[in-house]
Amino acid sequence: MKVLDKKKSEFLSIASHHLRDPLTAIKGYASMLSEGSFGDLSRPVLEAIEKIFVSSGHLVTMISDFMDISRIESGDMNYNFKDVDMKKLFLILADEMKQSAEHSHLVFTATVDEGPSEDEEYVTVGDEGKLRQVVSNLIDNSIKYTPHGEISMLLYKSPDKKKIIFSLSDTGIGMSELTKEKIFKKFSRAEGVSKVYTEGTGLGLYVAKEIVKKHEGRIWAESKGEGHGSSFYVELEAKR
Ligand code: ADP
Repeated sequence: MKVLDKKKSEFLSIASHHLRDPLTAIKGYASMLSEGSFGDLSRPVLEAIEKIFVSSGHLVTMISDFMDISRIESGDMNYNFKDVDMKKLFLILADEMKQSAEHSHLVFTATVDEGPSEDEEYVTVGDEGKLRQVVSNLIDNSIKYTPHGEISMLLYKSPDKKKIIFSLSDTGIGMSELTKEKIFKKFSRAEGVSKVYTEGTGLGLYVAKEIVKKHEGRIWAESKGEGHGSSFYVELEAKR
């Protein structure tokens, strides 16, 4: 069984690599076409190209998730730990995501609790790229699963200052207790969720949980129920 698992992971990894490169080219050309690099195009053509761009983007994300799963399972997920300024990362991601949220007609706010002395630091020891992946995955999800309303991000510390907490609340589809239990498992999605967002694989939160676990942190979700929005939390050790 172990041998079979390893073979499966190897296959997944090779297949993913070979899928990603051509896809990146498709996405790149779609982007150049829509920017007018090959001349002016009519509205219907531009709309069709936009669809190619969006769908190839979904595929790129899916393939990255598959590659992560195969790395996690083969124990090849490499981490490069050093000091990470979570405040800086938070503000960069907030800036990037503001545009996607506004594109989806959502109100987006991001707040850092600057503490009593107004200069609170948010430094943890971690792998910056992987922490970025976790946070942007949560933001992507909140945009996907919030048909209208608001998304708000907050960065703060626990009362004893030992933990850095990132929270993200949305006014979206929310989730039942049962859903909350299972979404961090591999390939797991809420029942009926594909009506809201078709392309999901149910892998993002599993990968996020694995990454946070390696940081000895915690990740969890809260919701007042279906239709009542969701909040996601990531808690990490505060170095300072
Ligand atoms: P995917 O989004 O590809 O389905 P994820 O692992 O990122 O996979 O999420 C798993 C499931 O968790 C989603 O399919 C959805 O049912 C639920 N979920 C995640 N984020 C939210 C959110 N912000 N609001 C409501 N449900 C969510």
